[in-house]
Amino acid sequence: MRETVNELDNPTFRLAVAQFDQAAERMNLDPNLRERLKMPERSLIVSIPIRMDDGTVKLFTGYRVQHDSSRGPSKGGIRYHPDVNLGEVAALAMWMTWKCALAGLPYGGAKGGVRVAPDQLSRGELQRLTRRYAAEIFPMIGPDKDVPAPDVGTDAQVMAWIMDTYSQQVGFAVPGVVTGKPLSIGGSLGREEATGRGVVNVTLEAMRHLGVDLQKATVAVQGFGNVGSNTARIMQEAGVRVIAVSDKSGGLYNPRGLDIPEVLARYRVDGRHSLRDTKLGDWITNEELLELECTVLVPAALSEQITHKNADKVKCRILAEGANGPTTLEADQILTDKGIFIIPDILANSGGVIVSYFEWVQDAQRFFWKAKDIQDRLHEIITTAFHRTLQFSMAKRVTMRMAALMNGIDKVAQAHLARGLYP
Ligand code: GLU
Repeated sequence: MRETVNELDNPTFRLAVAQFDQAAERMNLDPNLRERLKMPERSLIVSIPIRMDDGTVKLFTGYRVQHDSSRGPSKGGIRYHPDVNLGEVAALAMWMTWKCALAGLPYGGAKGGVRVAPDQLSRGELQRLTRRYAAEIFPMIGPDKDVPAPDVGTDAQVMAWIMDTYSQQVGFAVPGVVTGKPLSIGGSLGREEATGRGVVNVTLEAMRHLGVDLQKATVAVQGFGNVGSNTARIMQEAGVRVIAVSDKSGGLYNPRGLDIPEVLARYRVDGRHSLRDTKLGDWITNEELLELECTVLVPAALSEQITHKNADKVKCRILAEGANGPTTLEADQILTDKGIFIIPDILANSGGVIVSYFEWVQDAQRFFWKAKDIQDRLHEIITTAFHRTLQFSMAKRVTMRMAALMNGIDKVAQAHLARGLYP
């Protein structure tokens, strides 16, 4: 037994551990396993020296953390963000473990990140940073070991550079070393929109369960990156009115409903990426968006957005967590007391890793599926996980978050107990 190691200690890691502790307590988890599962299996910190376009050399810090690999290769995204740190990456890796187990995917959890503002780099600098980071974490990754994917600040192009760097080192093409790749090198149809589609799938199930009228429902989405923008688009396609969206500068609000395809078309013009420039609604702040009267609120940006400071002012009926860890422990209790139905992150945003799994399977088989197959199988897996969690939460009288965590943790615990302790 040992104390939590200090270098991981930050608010996000504390949140992940506190959630785990609550679930472990409730499940009466074996005390040895409890200590073990709190800490990541393996963590790597790397220095990444990059030649900048002006000729100077700049040093960046990168991480890769594998939380657990008892059920299969570890799986999880790579984040490029100026606030990335070891504790955050370790927390995100732990959430990936529960997420994969809950969905029934044969994976453990991992996460990576580089402390950098990617929008401040040229394309050349970004490529050199990615390749050097990939070379530094090379010993840890591989299609049977640990499989990265996109996360905040990374995309299919970044995955392509990682796939190429890895393949150059081993001497042949290894598509299965990352997921979320471009289609041309073994990516999967439907991967890019998968997290958003999954958020919509489970939200519609929650609405049905609560007897919410789709025609009258409204949705507000915080964050307009991959998850937020696809959630907003697919919600509207499903016939739900999207009244607000936001990016880091602020949000657009229109109580009659925003035209999301139009917002997307204007947002992407010459890479400017500003919602304000679209002029398609009233301008609101991110704080105001979280406090809007709406049926569904989807935080799809960063962690710890709903805290004890604003939880009381949140007025949605359903909170669908598109982001990882958007709700603090105190806020979770406040929202639960208010009767808000929470679809926790490890369930709500699992569509991304579910389709990553499809991509990895297709790469291994060298046999690719149709878009419809991907959508149908995603729907099947994520709605099954939703209903299993819902049944469990009602039967055991615990929140949806607790039910999801207990389910995921139990599968991992069983794997550890079956395998035993080495040596
Ligand atoms: N970054 C995504 C997540 O947090 C996807 C991970 C993956 O596909 O491996 O779930």
